[in-house]
Amino acid sequence: MIHIAHWIGGAERAGTSGRVGPVFNPATGEQTAEVDLASAAEVAEAVAVATEAAKGWRAASLSQRSAVLFKFRELLAGRTGELAAIITAEHGKVLADAAGEVARGLENVEFATGIPHLMKGSFSEQAATGVDVYSIRQPLGVVAGITPFNFPAMVPLWMCATAIAAGNAFVLKPSEKDPSAALWLARLWAEAGLPEGVFTVLNGDKEAVDALLTHPGVAAISFVGSTPIAKYIYETGTARGKRVQALGGAKNHMIVLPDAELDAAADAAISAGYGAAGERCMAISVVVAVGDIADPLVEAIAARLPKIRIGNGADAGTDMGPLISAQHRDKVAGYIEAGAAQGAKVIADGRDIAEKPGFFLGATLLDNVTPEMTVYTDEIFGPVLSVVRVDTYAEAVQLVNDNEYGNGVAIFTRDGGAARQFQFDVEAGMVGVNVPIPVPVAYYSFGGWKASLFGDSHMYGPDGIHFFTRGKVVTSRWPDPGTSAIDLGFPQTR
Ligand code: NAD
Repeated sequence: MIHIAHWIGGAERAGTSGRVGPVFNPATGEQTAEVDLASAAEVAEAVAVATEAAKGWRAASLSQRSAVLFKFRELLAGRTGELAAIITAEHGKVLADAAGEVARGLENVEFATGIPHLMKGSFSEQAATGVDVYSIRQPLGVVAGITPFNFPAMVPLWMCATAIAAGNAFVLKPSEKDPSAALWLARLWAEAGLPEGVFTVLNGDKEAVDALLTHPGVAAISFVGSTPIAKYIYETGTARGKRVQALGGAKNHMIVLPDAELDAAADAAISAGYGAAGERCMAISVVVAVGDIADPLVEAIAARLPKIRIGNGADAGTDMGPLISAQHRDKVAGYIEAGAAQGAKVIADGRDIAEKPGFFLGATLLDNVTPEMTVYTDEIFGPVLSVVRVDTYAEAVQLVNDNEYGNGVAIFTRDGGAARQFQFDVEAGMVGVNVPIPVPVAYYSFGGWKASLFGDSHMYGPDGIHFFTRGKVVTSRWPDPGTSAIDLGFPQTR
């Protein structure tokens, strides 16, 4: 059995709490490792190490920091396959998807290599006679990232590339369900020349999270996970005076207008609904069929389902792997049962899948879903695609806007005017036009609206730089000693 420790002060460190959690290979159902779960005392020790490291790192020149990012980028790009295999072994997603996750994380590293440009302030010469005013941005100190199981490499990279480039020390508390990717990233940072203590991995569960949330030495918390925990993180962290961005769950709709290209819409629904077994915060979980496209669309989606090859994500040719745990698989199966009981038409039932030892569930398609059903109201986070039928565009938009979540949304149409109106009307943070998973590229920022995000800054890109730095404005005069005089009036510029 592999033992997964912490990474503190530039080296692996065995836990001292005496508490461990199990890590499984979801494709076999076997426990492959145990991971240390940090206590509050271990969190305090790691934050102390990070605090010292942050002092030196913020003093490193922009080009020194950028050089580490460039080196890290080269190493990561060269070893994508290695990291993808680690992700697949603990998460279950297929290797190509895991490599895709790493590639999207790599984009954030590439963005962060431009830190000298991204940290530039502004300068106003002669704001008053002989007075210049300029702004600078400085790192916060020690910042923490708390991440979910479904992107064990990409989400940490969303956060740490920007945070570290900006001159902070970053403490990562990865998901205890698939923690090995975080340790792998820690080794890579060390190899790239990042000073000891600037990147820390603290494995753990609620105890470690609570210790980070309440530790006065942690200036900011960046969180990604489910909505109830995101809300808790935001409320607890901000009550302690911390800067917090907390991204939550989702229920992403894909609206298909009657003029949409049918095959493209069906392909997109399959890819975005069942990719990563539906365990993506940007997965499409609801197809909203407008008007008379509903019958042919459901038929076209159903016809594609048998083509999805389900199996161990490490095997070539597999399209969809297992779910993260037996409990989660059973919970998702329960939603299928509830959907059928509440009147949804089960077109394909993933519970029919041949018994396998791992945590598998097949692709499920439910038609005639209505907004009161639990398959519609809840984030299922599994390979269950619901079809809601509406008569008009206005009804479709209303459905999305009435939903509790507002992460991603997509519209499929050939009508540019309708798409433009949709982008204006819809209440969601990320919109796709004939693009089912509109995860923004790294030089924009990622974030939802409503219950999908607590806080006011989105993740990575320009918002990420803003989140991990604070502004300072300097007003400066270099007076000629001969002109100095006492003036008790309030300083004016005219
Ligand atoms: P989760 O909320 O269970 O866990 C996320 C993190 O919080 C983990 O590190 C976990 O250890 C910690 N945590 C769990 N329970 C806690 C508690 N009671 N107190 C303190 N910390 C706690 O989420 P998950 O199951 O790992 O991930 C799936 C969820 O994440 C889905 O809801 C998905 O939509 C969401 N997600 C959102 C985004 C986004 O960008 N909005 C991206 C990926 C995943």
